[in-house]
This record gives sequence, structure tokens and C-alpha cells, in this order.
Amino acid sequence: MKFNDLRTLENHQVIETDLCIVGSGPAGLSIAKEFAGTNIQVLVVESGGKAEDPDTQSLYEIENVGVPRQLDQDVIRYRILGGTSHIWTGRCAPFDDLDFQQRSWVPHSGWSIARRSLDSYLERAGENLGIGPHCYDERLWEQFKVSRPASSLNETVLKPVFWQFSKHYTNPYEPARFGQGFMPDDVPNINVLMNANVTHLSTNAAGTRLESIEVTSLNGKQATVKAKAIVLCCGGIENARLMLASNRIVPYGVGNQNDLVGRFLMDHPGCVLGSFDPISAKKVRDRFGHYWLDNTKGRHVYLHGIALSHKLQEKEQLLNCAAYLETVTAEDDPWGAIQGLKASLKNGKITPQAYRSAIALLTQPHAVGYGLYRRYLKNRPTINKAERVELFCHVEQRPDPDSRVTLSDKFDRLGMPLSRLNWKISEQERQSVRRLAHLICDEFDRLDLPKPVLSDWLEQKEGWEPNFSDRAHPTGTTRMSNDPKQGVVDANSQVHGVDGLFVAGSSVFPTAGYANPTLMIVALSLRLADWLKFNYLPTKSTQITWDRGQIDGSSTGLVSSDSR
Ligand SMILES: Cc1cc2nc3c(=O)[nH]c(=O)nc-3n(C[C@H](O)[C@H](O)[C@H](O)COP(=O)(O)OP(=O)(O)OC[C@H]3O[C@@H](n4cnc5c(N)ncnc54)[C@H](O)[C@@H]3O)c2cc1C
Repeated sequence: MKFNDLRTLENHQVIETDLCIVGSGPAGLSIAKEFAGTNIQVLVVESGGKAEDPDTQSLYEIENVGVPRQLDQDVIRYRILGGTSHIWTGRCAPFDDLDFQQRSWVPHSGWSIARRSLDSYLERAGENLGIGPHCYDERLWEQFKVSRPASSLNETVLKPVFWQFSKHYTNPYEPARFGQGFMPDDVPNINVLMNANVTHLSTNAAGTRLESIEVTSLNGKQATVKAKAIVLCCGGIENARLMLASNRIVPYGVGNQNDLVGRFLMDHPGCVLGSFDPISAKKVRDRFGHYWLDNTKGRHVYLHGIALSHKLQEKEQLLNCAAYLETVTAEDDPWGAIQGLKASLKNGKITPQAYRSAIALLTQPHAVGYGLYRRYLKNRPTINKAERVELFCHVEQRPDPDSRVTLSDKFDRLGMPLSRLNWKISEQERQSVRRLAHLICDEFDRLDLPKPVLSDWLEQKEGWEPNFSDRAHPTGTTRMSNDPKQGVVDANSQVHGVDGLFVAGSSVFPTAGYANPTLMIVALSLRLADWLKFNYLPTKSTQITWDRGQIDGSSTGLVSSDSR
């Protein structure tokens, strides 16, 4: 990848390329990488630069008029090279077959593609994300090299599920971060234009063909990009905002001829179903905890959880949801104490914290011994001493056209209207998680595992919404459907009625299951890359050209900001 900075380029350039990708997060860079070394010229236009910048981040400000947002909205999306992958946790799982099906009890459900058709893309996505084998069911016991639990869950009502954690290509303790380092610097046909904010998508007068995009930097530089195909990869809220705000030529916004852009906003509402007594929770933490899978690519970490079975969802008209344990580590956790002592020895300073760590270690020899036993004899990670152990849940949302992103009357400093979020959560979400909580209690009773004390709000008929939190997984605002009256993009992710415009990311998901979105985002992005490469883009390449002559003597006019 070669890097350029709009702030340092001559003003008002017209840049022509084959493929323009807007946004350099997991979606954008996964697509770009597929073209590395081909004869297709790719320009990635990215709002951020290589370092954080509060002014750029402020372009993500929102106006909220829906369910109160619980997470700090400043850190749920990241406007920087590599996008939100700079702050994600890295938890991955694919969606279920059922998530793709049209379900009579979930209005507007059903994908235009079958889940099966994504298998090879999920495998390939796993390579970008540094994850282990594409396996998320009980075949994993064998691969973990631990014995399967003696008593199984009652699979007519509950289903055992697993997530795995992404691993950085160089640092196994971090999840994959897209951005610099994701692709070699010496790929000549992939250029990245940083500090370049797309502010308008310009179509022909009828709104049926995307002609160009307008790009602006915060220091006032402007450029126009023309490409044979342009893919929006700006995230689940921003893709819709950009299409709606591009209303100078078509007043309703680009691709919004059926008033669908921005509608069906979903997330994975997260909630605490109940909590366990931390002392007696050991047995349940042991079974529903983390596991290691060692293979030729190193160690992969998995988490075991519980979901509603498909049969039960169908029988009781419930949404897909899954629960897992979340713990808050106690201050005197002996494993944390070991880290504290190591840091103190490294600094050569005996601090009060070092004394506390030493006491924590010396007074808990059993905990240390048990951790070592797990680590070296059971091939399992150590269990931290917990202050709190909670049963946490993610639920899919019933797609609702009135849950939506529209444009605010307030503007950002580039003159773009802010996103106005009217996010809604339905009673079906509460019913689904409530049922899951009760079934887990019954099942743990049967299995002789400690039961959680369930949260009171689960039984509340009203006022329960604030117990659900947004989870930084905005979804559905440019949903996929082959019917232009039902969706914004078709099965190839092309915007209905707008030639040359494509969308990638969670905004194209018609429904979102319970699984965290990024694995699916990358898989669908790779599928789109294949479509563009083999079917849409002409085989003849175009050199990137700049109409204002050469800059700094470079033959293409592109100057690597690194070489300045
Ligand atoms: C704290 C946290 C934890 C998370 N943990 C997980 C997890 O465990 N598992 C999981 O699957 N997901 C997780 N996520 C979500 C995950 O980060 C996103 O699903 C993923 O990053 C989305 O990828 P994307 O490429 O679609 O969008 P992004 O990563 O958001 O990238 C969008 C890019 O577009 C750029 N952009 C935006 N607007 C413009 C514009 N107008 N012009 C030019 N460029 C623009 C942005 O600067 C950014 O680089 C987490 C998110 C957060 C905040």
C-alpha cells in the first residue's frame, strides 16, 4: 500500500482509478487486499490518518433521539486508518443457517443468499482475522484436547456455541488490526489517500449512475475521485449517512428512491441476565469459560456459551440470542499480582502495589496451584479471581423500519448533517432473552451447576429498555434484498438502481443473529471483491491519473507521505 495525504496535495485534483474504496476498516482493506498485484488500480479513501486525531473523530458525532445509548459514542467507531479494528475485542463467530432464513415470526427476515454459499469466504476471512479452524460446535472438544462434558445440554431447547478470538499477525496478545502492516507497503496498485473525507456521492441527473465522489480534508483541500466502481465501507451508520446526505442531485439521497436507506437500524442489544456468587461459580466458569486450541498456526482462544436452539426459536417465535460469562477480576487476583510484581521488578521499584501483590500471592497458594494445574495439565487458561460473575447476553433484533438513521439539523465542521439515530428495541427482544435466562437456570439445575440469580428487570413489562446496551454493532441500514422495494443493495452488494455504487459492511445485513459482526463483514467483503474482480470491473486497467500534472516528480502523481 502506498500512502498519500490529501492535506498535502494540490487543491481540486480529479483522480481517476478503477476501483475506489471508501473506508479502510476490516471491510475496506479486505476488499483492497484482494486486488494486490492485479492490473486493477485501487484507491482507498480514508477519513483518518495513521494517528488519532480528535478533530477527525468529531466528524462521527451523532444526535440520539431513540433508546438511550449506553456506550460512549465517541469510542464505538474509530475514524483512523484501519477503522474501528483499532479498538475492537476480536471476538468472532459466523451467523447460523437460521439467521439467513425467512422466518414467519421475524418480519423482514430472510437473506437473498444462502448461509452455505459463504463457507469458503468465511474460511478466507479467517485468514485476515488470524483465527483458528472454521469450527464453532462440539467437534471442538477433540481439537481442544479436553474431554466432552459428561452431561450435555438439552439440545431441544439450548444449543452449545463457541466464539473464537482474532489474533494479530505479529502480536498474538492483540486482535488483528487493519491499517498499516495489513498489506505489504510495496504493492504498487493499491494507494491510500488519508485525511480524505468523502462528503458527497455525485450521480448523473437521474441518480442512476455514480459519476464521482467529493473528498475534503479538514484543512480545506478538495478532490474529486472518479472510478468504475466505488464501494462504501464506512461502517453501519456512516454508509447510510453518506447516501442520505448526498442529496444535491437527487433530493432524497443516493439509492434512496424507495425510502429504505437508514431504516432497519439494529445492533446486538446486550444485557445482564443474572449474576453468580463469585465463590461458588467455579464449576460453571470451568465449563463455560475459555479453551485453547493449539495447531501449526499457534494458540487460538475460544469461549464457550449457550444459545436458544433453533427448534425452540421456531416453536416459541423467539429471536436468536446467546449468553456467556463475563467476569470482573478482583483486585487481589493472584494472576494479576504476578503481572504487578513482574512490572515492579522490571522497574526496580518496590511500590505499595508491589507489597499488595506479594500478599495476594502468598495468601492464595491454592488459587495459584489450581491455575498451574489447569494451564499445564488440563491445557486450559488460568481462572482469575472474580469480584463479579455475570451471565451476559446478545440478542438479534426484530428488523423494524422505524428504527432508523436519518439526517440531523446539526452539521459537522465539513458541513455534513450529523446522523440522527432513532434506535428501537422491541418486546420480542425482551421475551427472547427472558426465556433464555429461565432455560439456563432450569438446565443448570439439572446439570448440578450453580444457578444465576436472575435480573429483576427481565420480568418488567415496562421501562426495561435501559437494561439493554448498544454494542457497537450498528447493522441493517442499507439492507440486502433482491427486491428493490425491500432492500437497498442487491445480492452482489450493488445499490439498486445506481450503477457503479456498492456497499460493504454490517449495513448490508438484513438480520444480525447474535454473533459479533466482523467475521461476517469480512466474508461478505471478500465475496464482493470476487464479484468486482471477475464480473464487474473490465479486465483492462486504468492508471491512476491526476489532472494537475505531477507532484514531486512521481510518475503517477502519487507521493508516499512516508517518504516525505
Ligand atoms: C470497543 C469495540 C469492541 C468491538 N469488539 C468486537 C468484537 O469482539 N467482534 C466483532 O466482530 N466486532 C467488534 N466490534 C465491531 C467492529 O469493530 C466492527 O464490526 C468493524 O470494525 C466494522 O468494520 P468496517 O470496516 O465495516 O467499519 P470500520 O472499522 O468502522 O471502518 C470504517 C472506516 O471508514 C472511514 N470513514 C468513515 N466515514 C468516512 C468518510 N466520509 N470518508 C472517508 N472515510 C470514512 C473510517 O475512518 C474508518 O476507517 C467492536 C467495536 C468496538 C467499538
